Amino acid sequence: MYWRSHIREDDGLTPGGGLVKPRPQQCPSTYDGKLACYEGDPVYCNTCKSWGVTKCVPPYRPDTDPEGRQANLDGDLCLCKCPIPPRLKASFDNVCMEFSEHALLGMAGVSEWMSYAGITPQSSKWIAFQANTNGLYFGLDCIATMDDGSILRGSFGDSNKVMFLSVSGAQCVKVEIDMCDTEHAGGKSIASSLIQKITG
Ligand SMILES: [Zn+2]
Repeated sequence: MYWRSHIREDDGLTPGGGLVKPRPQQCPSTYDGKLACYEGDPVYCNTCKSWGVTKCVPPYRPDTDPEGRQANLDGDLCLCKCPIPPRLKASFDNVCMEFSEHALLGMAGVSEWMSYAGITPQSSKWIAFQANTNGLYFGLDCIATMDDGSILRGSFGDSNKVMFLSVSGAQCVKVEIDMCDTEHAGGKSIASSLIQKITG
C-alpha cells in the first residue's frame, strides 16, 4: 500500500520551503483544525519569492470542495515562477488517500509521481530514462515504443527522469517526446545519446 497525505493550510514546499494559504471557504473543510487545501489555492514559494497556485497530480480519487476543486495531496505541485515546480509537503499524516500497487498501475499518468516518491512496481516490469542534458524536460509527455509494438506513455518529472510502467516487451526501441498537443504532427525523437537508461 502507498499513501498520500492531505495538504492543509500552513503546510510547506519541498525543496526550498513555502507556505500553503487556502482561500477562505464558505463551509470550511478542516483536518485537525486546519483548512483543507484544494487545487488552485495560493502557495507562497520561498525559492522564487512569489505566490503560486497548487496543481494536483495523479494518483488521486475524487475528493472535491463545493466548487468542484480537487483536494491537494502530498507531492502535488506549486505552480510559481520556479522552472521546476516545487512539491507540496504535508505535515499531517492522519488523513491520507491509500493506493494499492494494483490500483496505481490501473491509473493514468501516475508514473511521474511514483518516480518522485521513489516507488517502483514490484508486480510489473518498468523502465526509466534520464535525459543526459541540462535542458528542462519537466512535464513533457513522452512515448516509448517497445519491441513487441506496444506503446507506453510517461511524463518527465524532477531530475529529467521519465518512467514507463506495465512494460510488456523485452526492449525499448524508441523514446519520443509527445508533440500531439502542439501544432506539430507526430512525435519528435530524442537522440539516444541524450537519454540514459536507468533500468530494464
Ligand atoms: Zn517558486
